[in-house]
Amino acid sequence: MKKTAELVIKNALELLTCAEDASDLIGVVNNGWLAVSEGKIAALGDEKEIAPMISGSTEVIDASGKVVAPGFVDSHTHVVFGGTRVGEYFAKIENLSDDEIKRRGIKTGILTTLKPTKEHSLEELYEETALRVRDMIVSGTTTVESKSGYGLDRDTEIKQLTVNRLLERRLPISVASTFLGAHGWPRDMEKGKYMDFLINEMIPFVGSQGLAEFCDAWCDEGHYTARECGVILEAGLKAGMKPKLHEGGYSYIGGAEVAADLGAVSADHLNYDPRPSLRRLAKAGTVGTPLPGIDFAVGHILPFDPAPMIEEGLELAIATNCCPGCWCTSMPFILILACREHGMSSERAIRAATITGAKALSRQETIGSLEIGKNADIQIWNLERHEDIAYHYMTNPVETVIKNGRVVARNSMLV
Ligand SMILES: [Zn+2]
Repeated sequence: MKKTAELVIKNALELLTCAEDASDLIGVVNNGWLAVSEGKIAALGDEKEIAPMISGSTEVIDASGKVVAPGFVDSHTHVVFGGTRVGEYFAKIENLSDDEIKRRGIKTGILTTLKPTKEHSLEELYEETALRVRDMIVSGTTTVESKSGYGLDRDTEIKQLTVNRLLERRLPISVASTFLGAHGWPRDMEKGKYMDFLINEMIPFVGSQGLAEFCDAWCDEGHYTARECGVILEAGLKAGMKPKLHEGGYSYIGGAEVAADLGAVSADHLNYDPRPSLRRLAKAGTVGTPLPGIDFAVGHILPFDPAPMIEEGLELAIATNCCPGCWCTSMPFILILACREHGMSSERAIRAATITGAKALSRQETIGSLEIGKNADIQIWNLERHEDIAYHYMTNPVETVIKNGRVVARNSMLV
Protein backbone atom coordinates (compact mmCIF):
# COMPACT_ATOMS: atom_id res chain seq x y z
CA MET A 1 0.00 0.00 0.00
CA LYS A 2 1.59 3.24 -1.14
CA LYS A 3 1.42 6.27 1.10
CA THR A 4 -0.71 9.26 0.16
CA ALA A 5 1.01 12.14 -1.61
CA GLU A 6 0.57 15.80 -0.68
CA LEU A 7 1.23 16.88 -4.23
CA VAL A 8 1.17 15.05 -7.53
CA ILE A 9 2.31 16.39 -10.89
CA LYS A 10 0.80 14.36 -13.70
CA ASN A 11 1.08 13.92 -17.45
CA ALA A 12 4.25 15.99 -18.02
CA LEU A 13 4.98 16.00 -21.72
CA GLU A 14 8.63 15.88 -20.67
CA LEU A 15 9.85 15.38 -17.11
CA LEU A 16 13.57 16.15 -16.80
CA THR A 17 15.14 14.26 -13.90
CA CYS A 18 18.60 15.83 -14.46
CA ALA A 19 19.97 12.85 -12.52
CA GLU A 20 23.76 12.82 -12.38
CA ASP A 21 24.02 9.60 -14.36
CA ALA A 22 21.49 10.56 -17.06
CA SER A 23 22.97 9.42 -20.38
CA ASP A 24 21.25 12.24 -22.28
CA LEU A 25 22.47 14.73 -19.61
CA ILE A 26 18.94 15.63 -18.45
CA GLY A 27 17.03 12.34 -18.10
CA VAL A 28 13.99 13.08 -20.28
CA VAL A 29 10.94 11.03 -19.28
CA ASN A 30 7.89 11.33 -21.51
CA ASN A 31 4.46 11.44 -19.91
CA GLY A 32 6.10 11.62 -16.49
CA TRP A 33 4.31 11.61 -13.13
CA LEU A 34 5.80 12.67 -9.80
CA ALA A 35 4.59 12.49 -6.20
CA VAL A 36 5.68 14.64 -3.25
CA SER A 37 5.41 13.74 0.41
CA GLU A 38 6.73 15.73 3.38
CA GLY A 39 8.45 18.19 1.07
CA LYS A 40 10.49 15.48 -0.66
CA ILE A 41 10.11 13.62 -3.91
CA ALA A 42 8.38 10.38 -2.88
CA ALA A 43 7.92 8.68 -6.23
CA LEU A 44 8.51 9.08 -9.96
CA GLY A 45 6.87 7.02 -12.64
CA ASP A 46 3.74 6.72 -14.73
CA GLU A 47 0.02 6.92 -14.03
CA LYS A 48 -0.17 3.32 -12.87
CA GLU A 49 2.46 3.89 -10.17
CA ILE A 50 1.54 7.38 -9.00
CA ALA A 51 -2.28 7.60 -9.35
CA PRO A 52 -2.88 5.31 -6.30
CA MET A 53 -1.07 7.90 -4.16
CA ILE A 54 -3.77 10.53 -4.84
CA SER A 55 -6.34 11.05 -2.09
CA GLY A 56 -8.93 13.76 -1.44
CA SER A 57 -6.32 16.01 0.16
CA THR A 58 -3.72 15.68 -2.57
CA GLU A 59 -3.04 18.76 -4.69
CA VAL A 60 -2.86 17.58 -8.29
CA ILE A 61 -1.16 19.69 -10.95
CA ASP A 62 -1.84 18.71 -14.53
CA ALA A 63 1.34 19.27 -16.56
CA SER A 64 -0.16 18.12 -19.86
CA GLY A 65 1.65 19.77 -22.72
CA LYS A 66 4.34 21.14 -20.38
CA VAL A 67 7.89 20.43 -19.21
CA VAL A 68 8.71 19.63 -15.56
CA ALA A 69 12.27 20.28 -14.37
CA PRO A 70 14.24 20.66 -11.13
CA GLY A 71 14.30 24.21 -9.75
CA PHE A 72 17.28 26.19 -11.01
CA VAL A 73 20.34 26.40 -8.79
CA ASP A 74 21.92 29.81 -9.39
CA SER A 75 25.35 29.05 -7.97
CA HIS A 76 27.15 32.40 -8.43
CA THR A 77 25.62 35.78 -7.58
CA HIS A 78 26.45 39.08 -5.90
CA VAL A 79 22.78 39.88 -5.52
CA VAL A 80 23.14 41.85 -2.25
CA PHE A 81 24.18 45.39 -3.18
CA GLY A 82 23.06 49.00 -3.22
CA GLY A 83 23.48 51.42 -6.13
CA THR A 84 23.99 50.93 -9.83
CA ARG A 85 26.70 50.83 -12.50
CA VAL A 86 24.51 51.84 -15.41
CA GLY A 87 26.97 54.67 -16.26
CA GLU A 88 29.78 52.14 -16.71
CA TYR A 89 27.51 49.85 -18.72
CA PHE A 90 26.82 52.55 -21.32
CA ALA A 91 30.42 53.81 -21.25
CA LYS A 92 31.44 50.31 -22.38
CA ILE A 93 28.69 50.14 -25.00
CA GLU A 94 29.78 53.53 -26.38
CA ASN A 95 33.42 52.44 -26.14
CA LEU A 96 34.45 55.61 -24.27
CA SER A 97 38.15 56.12 -23.60
CA ASP A 98 39.46 56.05 -20.02
CA ASP A 99 40.05 59.82 -20.25
CA GLU A 100 36.49 60.44 -21.39
CA ILE A 101 35.09 58.23 -18.62
CA LYS A 102 37.12 60.26 -16.11
CA ARG A 103 36.05 63.57 -17.68
CA ARG A 104 32.38 62.64 -17.40
CA GLY A 105 32.85 61.48 -13.81
CA ILE A 106 31.57 57.95 -14.49
CA LYS A 107 32.45 55.54 -11.71
CA THR A 108 33.53 52.03 -12.71
CA GLY A 109 34.36 48.72 -11.05
CA ILE A 110 33.23 47.15 -7.81
CA LEU A 111 34.27 50.14 -5.69
CA THR A 112 31.37 52.08 -7.30
CA THR A 113 28.73 50.31 -5.25
CA LEU A 114 30.66 50.20 -1.96
CA LYS A 115 29.26 53.54 -0.78
CA PRO A 116 25.55 52.90 -1.37
CA THR A 117 25.87 49.37 0.04
CA LYS A 118 27.55 50.82 3.13
CA GLU A 119 25.01 53.64 3.54
CA HIS A 120 21.92 51.41 3.26
CA SER A 121 20.47 50.20 6.55
CA LEU A 122 20.10 46.45 6.92
CA GLU A 123 16.40 46.65 6.06
CA GLU A 124 16.98 48.94 3.07
CA LEU A 125 19.60 46.58 1.72
CA TYR A 126 17.26 43.65 2.32
CA GLU A 127 14.34 45.34 0.53
CA GLU A 128 16.39 46.24 -2.56
CA THR A 129 17.85 42.77 -2.72
CA ALA A 130 14.51 41.05 -2.12
CA LEU A 131 13.10 42.69 -5.26
CA ARG A 132 15.78 40.95 -7.28
CA VAL A 133 15.43 37.65 -5.44
CA ARG A 134 11.65 37.63 -5.99
CA ASP A 135 12.38 37.96 -9.72
CA MET A 136 14.74 35.01 -9.43
CA ILE A 137 12.09 32.85 -7.75
CA VAL A 138 9.38 33.53 -10.34
CA SER A 139 11.99 32.69 -13.01
CA GLY A 140 12.43 29.21 -11.57
CA THR A 141 15.34 29.59 -9.15
CA THR A 142 14.84 27.62 -5.92
CA THR A 143 18.41 27.91 -4.57
CA VAL A 144 20.68 30.90 -4.93
CA GLU A 145 24.26 31.50 -3.86
CA SER A 146 24.93 35.02 -2.58
CA LYS A 147 28.30 36.62 -1.92
CA SER A 148 29.41 39.52 0.21
CA GLY A 149 32.19 41.72 -1.16
CA TYR A 150 30.58 45.13 -1.60
CA GLY A 151 31.61 46.27 1.84
CA LEU A 152 35.29 45.47 2.29
CA ASP A 153 34.85 46.60 5.88
CA ARG A 154 33.71 44.59 8.85
CA ASP A 155 30.22 46.04 9.35
CA THR A 156 29.15 46.15 5.71
CA GLU A 157 30.40 42.64 4.95
CA ILE A 158 28.49 41.33 7.97
CA LYS A 159 25.43 43.33 6.89
CA GLN A 160 25.51 41.66 3.48
CA LEU A 161 25.83 38.20 5.02
CA THR A 162 22.97 39.03 7.40
CA VAL A 163 20.81 39.95 4.41
CA ASN A 164 21.51 36.43 3.09
CA ARG A 165 20.03 35.03 6.29
CA LEU A 166 16.98 37.28 6.07
CA LEU A 167 16.37 36.31 2.44
CA GLU A 168 16.27 32.64 3.34
CA ARG A 169 14.05 33.30 6.35
CA ARG A 170 11.53 35.52 4.58
CA LEU A 171 11.40 34.24 1.01
CA PRO A 172 10.74 30.74 -0.38
CA ILE A 173 14.29 30.13 -1.55
CA SER A 174 17.42 28.48 -0.17
CA VAL A 175 20.41 30.78 0.10
CA ALA A 176 24.01 29.55 0.11
CA SER A 177 26.08 32.28 1.74
CA THR A 178 29.62 33.08 0.58
CA PHE A 179 32.16 35.41 2.18
CA LEU A 180 33.96 37.35 -0.56
CA GLY A 181 35.96 39.84 1.46
CA ALA A 182 38.71 39.35 -1.14
CA HIS A 183 36.60 40.89 -3.90
CA GLY A 184 38.95 43.89 -3.74
CA TRP A 185 40.45 46.09 -1.05
CA PRO A 186 39.52 49.58 0.18
CA ARG A 187 40.99 52.58 -1.65
CA ASP A 188 42.55 53.90 1.53
CA MET A 189 44.25 50.69 2.60
CA GLU A 190 47.23 48.75 1.32
CA LYS A 191 46.36 45.30 -0.02
CA GLY A 192 48.73 43.49 2.38
CA LYS A 193 47.23 45.25 5.37
CA TYR A 194 43.70 44.44 4.22
CA MET A 195 44.70 40.79 3.72
CA ASP A 196 45.97 40.68 7.33
CA PHE A 197 42.60 42.00 8.44
CA LEU A 198 40.79 39.37 6.36
CA ILE A 199 42.91 36.45 7.50
CA ASN A 200 43.25 37.32 11.16
CA GLU A 201 39.93 39.01 11.91
CA MET A 202 37.18 38.74 9.33
CA ILE A 203 37.46 35.14 8.17
CA PRO A 204 37.71 33.66 11.69
CA PHE A 205 34.77 35.83 12.79
CA VAL A 206 32.54 34.97 9.82
CA GLY A 207 33.35 31.29 10.30
CA SER A 208 32.69 31.33 14.03
CA GLN A 209 29.28 32.99 13.51
CA GLY A 210 28.28 30.56 10.77
CA LEU A 211 27.57 33.51 8.49
CA ALA A 212 28.99 31.83 5.39
CA GLU A 213 29.36 28.35 4.04
CA PHE A 214 31.94 29.28 1.40
CA CYS A 215 34.97 31.56 1.17
CA ASP A 216 35.80 33.12 -2.19
CA ALA A 217 38.45 35.43 -3.71
CA TRP A 218 39.18 37.13 -7.03
CA CYS A 219 42.29 35.81 -8.76
CA ASP A 220 43.15 38.00 -11.75
CA GLU A 221 45.72 40.57 -12.86
CA GLY A 222 45.22 43.72 -10.80
CA HIS A 223 43.29 41.80 -8.14
CA TYR A 224 44.68 39.01 -5.93
CA THR A 225 47.58 36.80 -7.07
CA ALA A 226 47.23 33.03 -7.06
CA ARG A 227 49.47 32.82 -3.99
CA GLU A 228 47.41 35.43 -2.13
CA CYS A 229 44.20 33.62 -3.02
CA GLY A 230 45.68 30.39 -1.68
CA VAL A 231 46.44 32.03 1.66
CA ILE A 232 42.95 33.55 1.90
CA LEU A 233 41.13 30.35 0.95
CA GLU A 234 43.23 28.32 3.38
CA ALA A 235 42.22 30.70 6.16
CA GLY A 236 38.63 30.13 5.05
CA LEU A 237 39.06 26.37 5.21
CA LYS A 238 40.49 26.68 8.71
CA ALA A 239 37.39 28.67 9.69
CA GLY A 240 35.09 25.98 8.26
CA MET A 241 34.31 27.56 4.89
CA LYS A 242 34.69 25.62 1.65
CA PRO A 243 36.69 27.35 -1.10
CA LYS A 244 35.33 28.84 -4.32
CA LEU A 245 37.39 31.03 -6.64
CA HIS A 246 36.86 33.72 -9.27
CA GLU A 247 39.66 33.11 -11.72
CA GLY A 248 40.66 33.51 -15.34
CA GLY A 249 38.02 36.12 -16.05
CA TYR A 250 40.32 38.74 -17.55
CA SER A 251 43.77 37.09 -17.47
CA TYR A 252 45.27 33.77 -16.44
CA ILE A 253 47.60 33.89 -13.44
CA GLY A 254 47.36 30.39 -12.00
CA GLY A 255 44.00 30.44 -10.22
CA ALA A 256 42.97 26.99 -11.42
CA GLU A 257 46.02 25.41 -9.80
CA VAL A 258 45.15 26.99 -6.44
CA ALA A 259 41.50 25.96 -6.76
CA ALA A 260 42.47 22.39 -7.66
CA ASP A 261 45.10 22.12 -4.90
CA LEU A 262 42.61 23.24 -2.26
CA GLY A 263 39.78 21.09 -3.61
CA ALA A 264 37.61 24.13 -4.33
CA VAL A 265 33.94 23.33 -4.97
CA SER A 266 33.99 25.61 -8.01
CA ALA A 267 36.24 27.78 -10.15
CA ASP A 268 34.29 30.54 -11.84
CA HIS A 269 34.67 32.62 -15.06
CA LEU A 270 37.44 30.59 -16.84
CA ASN A 271 37.69 32.80 -19.95
CA TYR A 272 41.50 32.57 -20.05
CA ASP A 273 42.21 29.19 -18.47
CA PRO A 274 44.53 27.10 -20.66
CA ARG A 275 43.70 23.44 -21.29
CA PRO A 276 46.13 21.93 -18.74
CA SER A 277 44.50 24.10 -16.05
CA LEU A 278 41.02 22.99 -17.10
CA ARG A 279 42.27 19.40 -16.87
CA ARG A 280 43.63 20.03 -13.37
CA LEU A 281 40.26 21.36 -12.25
CA ALA A 282 38.46 18.37 -13.76
CA LYS A 283 40.81 15.92 -12.03
CA ALA A 284 40.28 17.69 -8.68
CA GLY A 285 36.50 17.36 -9.03
CA THR A 286 36.10 21.13 -9.02
CA VAL A 287 33.05 22.37 -10.95
CA GLY A 288 33.77 24.91 -13.67
CA THR A 289 31.32 27.82 -13.67
CA PRO A 290 31.56 30.02 -16.75
CA LEU A 291 29.29 33.05 -16.60
CA PRO A 292 27.41 33.90 -19.81
CA GLY A 293 25.73 36.95 -18.24
CA ILE A 294 28.91 38.86 -17.47
CA ASP A 295 30.48 38.05 -20.84
CA PHE A 296 27.33 39.54 -22.41
CA ALA A 297 27.11 42.54 -20.08
CA VAL A 298 30.70 43.70 -20.54
CA GLY A 299 30.97 42.69 -24.21
CA HIS A 300 33.89 40.46 -23.20
CA ILE A 301 36.73 40.37 -25.73
CA LEU A 302 37.26 36.67 -25.04
CA PRO A 303 33.88 35.09 -24.28
CA PHE A 304 34.28 31.71 -22.57
CA ASP A 305 34.39 28.63 -24.80
CA PRO A 306 32.80 25.53 -23.26
CA ALA A 307 34.27 23.15 -25.88
CA PRO A 308 37.76 22.68 -24.35
CA MET A 309 36.21 22.53 -20.88
CA ILE A 310 33.93 19.68 -21.93
CA GLU A 311 36.75 17.93 -23.80
CA GLU A 312 38.94 18.07 -20.69
CA GLY A 313 36.18 16.47 -18.64
CA LEU A 314 35.22 19.51 -16.57
CA GLU A 315 31.70 19.48 -15.17
CA LEU A 316 30.01 22.78 -15.99
CA ALA A 317 27.59 24.94 -14.03
CA ILE A 318 26.16 28.22 -15.30
CA ALA A 319 24.82 31.05 -13.15
CA THR A 320 23.47 34.59 -13.46
CA ASN A 321 26.37 36.31 -11.66
CA CYS A 322 23.68 38.87 -10.77
CA CYS A 323 25.64 41.97 -9.69
CA PRO A 324 25.82 45.70 -10.46
CA GLY A 325 27.93 44.88 -13.53
CA CYS A 326 25.48 42.25 -14.80
CA TRP A 327 21.93 43.01 -13.71
CA CYS A 328 20.39 39.66 -14.54
CA THR A 329 18.03 37.70 -12.31
CA SER A 330 16.77 35.24 -14.91
CA MET A 331 18.28 31.79 -15.30
CA PRO A 332 16.21 31.24 -18.51
CA PHE A 333 18.04 34.24 -20.02
CA ILE A 334 21.38 32.73 -18.96
CA LEU A 335 20.38 29.48 -20.72
CA ILE A 336 19.60 31.47 -23.87
CA LEU A 337 23.04 33.11 -23.75
CA ALA A 338 24.85 29.86 -22.95
CA CYS A 339 23.34 28.20 -26.02
CA ARG A 340 23.18 31.04 -28.58
CA GLU A 341 26.38 32.90 -27.64
CA HIS A 342 28.59 30.07 -26.40
CA GLY A 343 27.43 27.03 -28.35
CA MET A 344 26.17 24.90 -25.48
CA SER A 345 23.49 22.35 -26.29
CA SER A 346 20.18 22.91 -24.53
CA GLU A 347 20.73 19.70 -22.56
CA ARG A 348 24.21 20.80 -21.43
CA ALA A 349 22.86 24.19 -20.37
CA ILE A 350 19.89 22.75 -18.45
CA ARG A 351 22.18 20.33 -16.64
CA ALA A 352 24.58 23.19 -15.82
CA ALA A 353 21.69 25.18 -14.33
CA THR A 354 20.41 22.34 -12.14
CA ILE A 355 22.41 19.33 -10.93
CA THR A 356 25.87 20.77 -11.64
CA GLY A 357 24.83 24.07 -10.07
CA ALA A 358 23.94 22.04 -6.98
CA LYS A 359 27.36 20.40 -7.14
CA ALA A 360 28.99 23.85 -7.28
CA LEU A 361 27.36 24.40 -3.88
CA SER A 362 28.06 20.90 -2.46
CA ARG A 363 24.31 20.33 -2.35
CA GLN A 364 23.94 17.64 -5.01
CA GLU A 365 22.73 15.12 -2.42
CA THR A 366 19.58 17.13 -1.67
CA ILE A 367 18.78 19.34 -4.68
CA GLY A 368 19.42 19.81 -8.39
CA SER A 369 17.59 16.77 -9.76
CA LEU A 370 14.20 15.08 -9.57
CA GLU A 371 15.04 11.84 -7.76
CA ILE A 372 13.38 10.02 -4.91
CA GLY A 373 14.36 11.45 -1.52
CA LYS A 374 15.51 14.82 -2.82
CA ASN A 375 13.86 18.09 -1.85
CA ALA A 376 10.78 18.78 -3.95
CA ASP A 377 12.22 21.91 -5.61
CA ILE A 378 10.48 21.78 -8.96
CA GLN A 379 9.45 24.06 -11.81
CA ILE A 380 6.95 23.66 -14.61
CA TRP A 381 7.60 25.34 -17.96
CA ASN A 382 4.75 26.26 -20.25
CA LEU A 383 6.76 24.84 -23.14
CA GLU A 384 6.32 21.81 -25.38
CA ARG A 385 9.92 20.68 -25.36
CA HIS A 386 12.96 21.35 -23.19
CA GLU A 387 14.88 23.02 -26.05
CA ASP A 388 12.29 25.82 -26.03
CA ILE A 389 13.76 27.11 -22.74
CA ALA A 390 16.68 28.50 -24.77
CA TYR A 391 14.61 29.37 -27.84
CA HIS A 392 11.59 31.38 -26.66
CA TYR A 393 12.98 34.84 -25.91
CA MET A 394 11.73 37.43 -23.48
CA THR A 395 8.69 35.66 -22.14
CA ASN A 396 8.90 33.98 -18.78
CA PRO A 397 8.27 30.33 -19.61
CA VAL A 398 8.27 29.35 -15.93
CA GLU A 399 4.61 28.82 -15.06
CA THR A 400 4.83 27.18 -11.64
CA VAL A 401 7.60 27.06 -9.01
CA ILE A 402 7.50 24.56 -6.15
CA LYS A 403 9.80 24.86 -3.13
CA ASN A 404 10.00 21.97 -0.65
CA GLY A 405 6.75 20.59 -2.05
CA ARG A 406 4.74 23.84 -1.86
CA VAL A 407 3.69 25.97 -4.81
CA VAL A 408 5.43 29.33 -4.24
CA ALA A 409 5.01 31.06 -7.61
CA ARG A 410 2.57 30.96 -10.49
CA ASN A 411 2.59 32.94 -13.74
CA SER A 412 5.41 35.26 -12.62
CA MET A 413 3.76 36.05 -9.25
CA LEU A 414 4.73 34.80 -5.80
CA VAL A 415 1.78 33.08 -4.11
ZN1 LIG B 1 31.41 36.96 -9.26
